[in-house]
Amino acid sequence: MLLYNSLGQTKQEFVPHSQDIVNMYTCGPTVYHYAHIGNLRTYIMEDVLEKYLRFAGYNVKRVMNITDVGHLSSDADTGEDKMLSGAKREHKTVMEIAKFYTDAFFADCDKLNIKKPDVVEPATNCIDEFINMISVLLEKGYAYIAGGNVYFDTSKLDTYYVFGNMNEDDLAVGVRDSVEEDENKRNKADFVLWFTKSKFDSQELKWESPWGLGYPGWHIECSCISNKHNGEYLDIHCGGIDNAFPHHTNEIAQSESFLGHKWCNYWFHVLHLNDARGKMSKSKGDFLTVSLLESKGYNPLVYRMFCLQSHYRKPLTFSYESLDNTANAYDKLIKRISSLDKEGTPDKAQAEPYIDSFKEALDNDINTSLGLTCVYDVLKSELDDATKLYVIEEFDKVLSLDLTKSEQKNSPSADGELATEVEALIEKRTKARAEKDWATADAIRDKLKEMHVVLVDTKDGIQWHIEN
Ligand SMILES: [Zn+2]
Repeated sequence: MLLYNSLGQTKQEFVPHSQDIVNMYTCGPTVYHYAHIGNLRTYIMEDVLEKYLRFAGYNVKRVMNITDVGHLSSDADTGEDKMLSGAKREHKTVMEIAKFYTDAFFADCDKLNIKKPDVVEPATNCIDEFINMISVLLEKGYAYIAGGNVYFDTSKLDTYYVFGNMNEDDLAVGVRDSVEEDENKRNKADFVLWFTKSKFDSQELKWESPWGLGYPGWHIECSCISNKHNGEYLDIHCGGIDNAFPHHTNEIAQSESFLGHKWCNYWFHVLHLNDARGKMSKSKGDFLTVSLLESKGYNPLVYRMFCLQSHYRKPLTFSYESLDNTANAYDKLIKRISSLDKEGTPDKAQAEPYIDSFKEALDNDINTSLGLTCVYDVLKSELDDATKLYVIEEFDKVLSLDLTKSEQKNSPSADGELATEVEALIEKRTKARAEKDWATADAIRDKLKEMHVVLVDTKDGIQWHIEN
């Protein structure tokens, strides 16, 4: 199997460290808000990779962290803590926010047929491991204490910018985030391993450590959680391309300095989802979530198919027009498959060459669009219906589009119910306003506000979305 590796920036033959198992690590969500569909593109493509490895006969152990502490608004550890800002926004505690958005994340994954990783570990479970790794880095001289915080010393490494294609100036921390650079840092690329002091609002969650009461930096958690569950040798580390720097670069610096040998052999990075304005993010434009797509009548699996239609290493541009095209294609495909005669026994020998072509597509750096073409090739083929169904069921172990399930996921979900409730409230409020019943209108406005619903008056009437 050929896999593009961000280390070396070439397609490489995939060879796991041990024949028995593929150790795979995924950077999980920072659970301070809903995931937008751009984040979820990454999880969909990682899910395909994991399922294809299993399809190809590997045992896989996949580990994911949940960031519930230490992720500041800039990845270069400046700015406000994301969890704290989520808690303030919703007048809840950090742990309540973490629980709510962890559940919301897995509910979205479920709707998109993304399998839950074998191990899911919240960062706050691993404080002892963080403290241990940081202590070792200090002992080995890879870290220093300044201004109360512990920093990683990037000047101690032969190569820090391991992914190569980065321009050091572009990445200069102070410039990139247009915030004041941390004066405690000896080198511009150094990063925090443990905070006891921050210029910004203090953390709600703090732990005793040899360096004082404080909390871990974001990067250390992935190094430790992977080491804890995947062991010293990691085969594939996954994440969105924007995590390559500084997050993954810092993970490699920490892990390899701690272990004293090469840590992870393959780095799998998924490119951005863009909209007409550029890279999609929570902070600008429409906040596109799975729930929003559902409220507009889309089956979440249509979005999964939309992602599979393009290669993970190409930026993908989202528009409702292209999603509509995919929705049409998906409906037609499901209809065609459900019209196949389910009686009879599949002829597995006849099926073989079709399964081989599918493998060939996926073996070539997870070419999912070619994988989808294989489904159409089977439908067009001379195979009998039972064999066609068998082959498509096999493909669907990787594609996970519910291709052969006659009952589609159209039942009203919790989020569908939310949309119905919001629409009903808006209608009541409009009526109350028309009747000049301001008390009722205001009460409904407050209720919607509590639900984080933002109303926008447009020429087509009132539009709504969930608060950014
Ligand atoms: Zn990570």
